Amino acid sequence: MPTSSTLGTDLHADPGHLSDPSDLGDLRDWQSALRAQFPIVTGHPGLAYLDSAATAQKPQAVLDAVQTYLTTSNANAGRGTYTWANETTALVERARDRVKRFLRDPDPVSGRSTVHFTSGTTEGLRTVARDWLVSWLRDGDEIIVPFADHQANAQPWLEAQRLLSKRGIRIVIRDMPYEAESHDYDQTALAALVNERTRFVAATHVHHVYGANMNVHRIRRTVGPDVPICLDAAQSIGHLPVDVGALDVDFVVFSGHKAMALPGSGAVWARGARGPEFRPGGWNGSPNTTGVVSLTAALDWLEEAGTERIERWTVGLGARLTEGLRHLPSYEVLGCPLSLAADSGVQRRQGIVTFRHRGISSNDLGFILSSHDVMVRADGHCQARSGEEESSVRVSLHVYNTVEEVDRLLDVLDGLDRQTRGAVTC
Ligand code: PMP
Repeated sequence: MPTSSTLGTDLHADPGHLSDPSDLGDLRDWQSALRAQFPIVTGHPGLAYLDSAATAQKPQAVLDAVQTYLTTSNANAGRGTYTWANETTALVERARDRVKRFLRDPDPVSGRSTVHFTSGTTEGLRTVARDWLVSWLRDGDEIIVPFADHQANAQPWLEAQRLLSKRGIRIVIRDMPYEAESHDYDQTALAALVNERTRFVAATHVHHVYGANMNVHRIRRTVGPDVPICLDAAQSIGHLPVDVGALDVDFVVFSGHKAMALPGSGAVWARGARGPEFRPGGWNGSPNTTGVVSLTAALDWLEEAGTERIERWTVGLGARLTEGLRHLPSYEVLGCPLSLAADSGVQRRQGIVTFRHRGISSNDLGFILSSHDVMVRADGHCQARSGEEESSVRVSLHVYNTVEEVDRLLDVLDGLDRQTRGAVTC
């Protein structure tokens, strides 16, 4: 069994706030008050929504902000000179500042960093590829792509390569290397890949299947000061503090709907200092103003709730679930084995726990859980690398989830474990 030192894991500069993830007692009152703010959750007390990595539920404050906007100043942004149009334009500009402050942009007022609104992470990554990367790369350049992550963080870079190839510009794509046990990016192997032609690295903050925090802050040390890093933060925004200065990345891309804003909203934050400026080209059309308004309200809400406490809560619930699963031999939990125990010195799961039953197909397991009013995701989870599309069941937690919901899920899984144990060869 590898130890944390052999894995080289230094997840957080200060992991102290995660040191005992199973002890959530002091957060219970805080969490109940927050849970009460989600009408869809309180309106369905018998249902456990455990699929927040797919999309998050919305607090009343977000619903109110959208309602207020649509009933007081709805107009198009950047067009028109009357009051509502001006107010809408101001709301969109304010949302850019909100995103910068949420990401702890070290230089929010200089105007050098930019925020571009998109429909989500997929479109955001594609925009970075199409409107920035293709003009940044030269013939013979190399880029590094994380093929074991989400497809949305592989396809755009492949499309950029195809586009450039049509213009006679040849780009080499290298596979981001992963450590076998931890599933973290392998910094030693990455260092060996990097050379003077390496011009871009794509990475993911939190893995959407394994829940692993990918220790992205280590990439800068490995690739050096001049290689732009683009971060897919779809699974981290709203789940843990995201500090672009500390991570030292150049692009942060995320989906609003996974961060409690409306579907069809999202953003790309781009640092101004490295490489050519990110200027999404062409005519962008009318912005999704309600999406942008909802994003401001969601980021306000999340900051007020406290992303550090949200992280503690969801990591704690995830640890409770993985700890419970450890005692049920019919289940195989995917991802880093070291982070499974609540007393593990390596706590790397961010409230996403993915597993398979050794005798029941994951799709069937999804249906069974649904019949017990537990909503989870059961499929191949859009992983980019072929061979990893075998179905599994993913449980993903957010601040509105409770210890009782996790225990209910474990009860159902325990019952299935008992029923099937005789029939399963482990
Ligand atoms: N990246 C990751 C890590 C994701 O989990 C997802 C959504 N599952 C995406 C990208 C794509 O997000 P969207 O569908 O909102 O564009």
